[in-house]
Amino acid sequence: MKTGTIYLVGAGPGDPDLLTLRAARLLERAMLIVHDGLVDPAILAMARPDARLVSVAKSRSKHTLPQDDINALLVREARAGRDVVRLKGGDPFIFGRGGEEMEAARAAGVPVEVVPGITAANGAAAASGIALTHREDASIVSFVAGQCKGLSDQDWAGLAGKGRTLVIYMGVKTAPQIAEKLMTDGLAPDMPLAVIENACRADMRVLRGPLASLPDLVELEQVKSPALIVIGDVTAREDVALARIVEEAAA
Ligand code: SAH
Repeated sequence: MKTGTIYLVGAGPGDPDLLTLRAARLLERAMLIVHDGLVDPAILAMARPDARLVSVAKSRSKHTLPQDDINALLVREARAGRDVVRLKGGDPFIFGRGGEEMEAARAAGVPVEVVPGITAANGAAAASGIALTHREDASIVSFVAGQCKGLSDQDWAGLAGKGRTLVIYMGVKTAPQIAEKLMTDGLAPDMPLAVIENACRADMRVLRGPLASLPDLVELEQVKSPALIVIGDVTAREDVALARIVEEAAA
C-alpha cells in the first residue's frame, strides 16, 4: 500500500479569502483534515461533505491533544495510505509547531509537504492599517511568543524601541508581565502599542494606548485570545485602523 502524504497547511488568520490557492485546493479535495482550534469555521466549511474532520483543539484553556499524540495520529493515518491535511491557523512555521510535525513525519519516513499561510502578524497588520515596517518608523520587525517557558528569562532587550516593531503572539494572559518586562528593559512607558483582536474576522477590534496602559487595556476591554500586541511607533501613525473604520462606515 502506498503511504499517504502529510500536508502541513497554513490556513491564514481567519478570512477564507486569505488562503493560498494551494491550501484551498488541498482543503477542497481532502478526505481527512486534522485541524486546531484557531481555524475559522468558514474555512472548515470548504471541506467536502464526506471529509473526516478531526479537531485537536489548541486553545489555551481547552483540552488539547498532546503534541506527541498529534504526531502519532498524522503518521498512523499516512501509513494507512491516507493523505492527511493538517490545517493550522496562520503559518505552520510561526508558533505553529509545524517544525515538530515535519520532523515526526520525516523520522517515520512519511512524505510531508509544507504549505505556507499568512501569519497573524501579516493579516492583522493589513486589516488594521499598521505597516509593520515603514521608512520613517521601523526597519526591524520581530515576532515573539508572549506565553512560553520562562518568559521573564527570555531576552527581548533591543527587540522593541525606536525604529523597531515588536509583534507579540499569545500575549493576552501575560500582558501585565510583558509590559513590566519591556519597561524593565528600558522601553519608555509611553511607547505606543496596538492590540488587535480577531484580526481578519468580522469581529476584529483594534485598541491603542501607551505601553504602561497595556494591563488595563486588556483588562477593561476584556481582550480575548486570539489577539496580537504590536509595539512601536508604526502603531501610532495616522492611518492605523483606517481599514477598519472604512469597513464600519460601509457596513
Ligand atoms: N501559526 C499561527 C500562530 C499560532 S499561535 C500564525 O502564524 O498566525 C496563536 C496566536 O496567534 C494567538 O494567541 C494570537 O496571538 C495569534 N493569532 C492567531 N490568529 C489571530 C487572529 N485572527 N487575530 C489576532 N491574533 C491571532
